[in-house]
Amino acid sequence: MSKGWTGGSTRQWRRTRAAVLEQNQLDTGGRCTVQIPTICTRWADTVHHTKGRAITGDDPAHLVASCTPCNLHIGDPQTHNPACPLCAQRPSNALDPEPRPMTWW
Ligand SMILES: [Zn+2]
Ligand SMILES: [Zn+2]
Repeated sequence: MSKGWTGGSTRQWRRTRAAVLEQNQLDTGGRCTVQIPTICTRWADTVHHTKGRAITGDDPAHLVASCTPCNLHIGDPQTHNPACPLCAQRPSNALDPEPRPMTWW
């Protein structure tokens, strides 16, 4: 992830983000899936990297639809306070979804 790091919006990233938001629209009607109490607007308008962009890049398996306040609050999950009182109040169904298996053996 050293080459091309701009911290901003590449064309590929915009496409990935749009796909995540589109899928979330189908799955939840467009709700924020992070749902941090007191700051969440409830409606996803961006995408959050659940493991940190430095770890997984823009792998859609580790992306969730998020509202901007939730995304900004967590920032990089690797450095976010693990004892954060706001995050501790998140509803259990808002935890990171398990990756969906593509095949069943
Ligand atoms: Zn939110
Ligand atoms: Zn937090």
